Amino acid sequence: MSASARIDLHTHSTASDGTLGPADLVRAAGDAGLDVVALTDHDTTAGWADAVAALPRGLTLIRGAELSCRWFGVEPAIPLHLLAYLFDPDEPELVAELARVRRAREERGERIVRLLQADGIRVSWSEILAGAAGGTVGRPHIAQALIRAGLVATTTEAFGPDWLGERYRLPKDDIDVFRAVALVRAAGGVPVFAHPKASRRGRIVPDDLIAQLAAVGLAGLEADHEEHSPAEREHVRRLAAELGLLVTGSSDFHGTHKTVRLGAFTTGPEAYERIVGLARGVTPVASG
Ligand code: AMP
Ligand code: FE
Ligand code: FE
Ligand code: ZN
Repeated sequence: MSASARIDLHTHSTASDGTLGPADLVRAAGDAGLDVVALTDHDTTAGWADAVAALPRGLTLIRGAELSCRWFGVEPAIPLHLLAYLFDPDEPELVAELARVRRAREERGERIVRLLQADGIRVSWSEILAGAAGGTVGRPHIAQALIRAGLVATTTEAFGPDWLGERYRLPKDDIDVFRAVALVRAAGGVPVFAHPKASRRGRIVPDDLIAQLAAVGLAGLEADHEEHSPAEREHVRRLAAELGLLVTGSSDFHGTHKTVRLGAFTTGPEAYERIVGLARGVTPVASG
């Protein structure tokens, strides 16, 4: 990878809560001038094949996922996201765990809908499932139903305290984060902690936990992310240096469910090469 390569290692397609299909996503990544893009849908690898098939010339695809995890070291447990790159998508334990989390997401979604309905809000679970179109269901799909019903104007408003951010927020049955790191490593993948300081979404974990995860196989930290302030980005970089972890920056692109653009934040070529060098599951894919 050249020193000027543009590398975005965190994006979502319709295989989870993004709005571009995986094929359109890689085409958009090519059009945005990226050299490398990672597809990291929530708790699924379902978009990988379409992304590979549509990969434009000059773009390298990193196959990945973003795992819904939880740290059970405090009560109540704190949710967090683990990016996993280049793991074997057929590793049975990981496959089973991802399927379990996707089911847990559906159960939680249905419970949120029942809470809304109990307050007289007319949204239906079947409509939300249809909106997800077979992809991993998430709160953004419920947010879309609230927008369609005219109850809120934007996804941001739907994630506010009166709606999915607090009043109608329910936990889902996530993967224990230590188990997730172990499973990703066992599948030959490279785990990177996504937006570790994104406190706008809720409670964040202490640096001490990040140190514990680093000791058992966590490879990196996402520093440059739209939900991190400049001071938080610097803090994450310092922590990573102390712990010997690599540092990434990425857009966390979700299509029109968010405003951030592909390539808005990027990862340096050295960190990228470290990820590729550590991976033992699948390889980066480059088209002709
Ligand atoms: P879930 O995975 O179902 O808990 O929903 C979390 C997802 O909602 C995240 O991955 C983001 O894509 C999205 N999200 C979280 N907070 C916001 C927000 N404030 N505005 C828009 N999207 C958000
Ligand atoms: Fe998301
Ligand atoms: Fe995330
Ligand atoms: Zn994400």
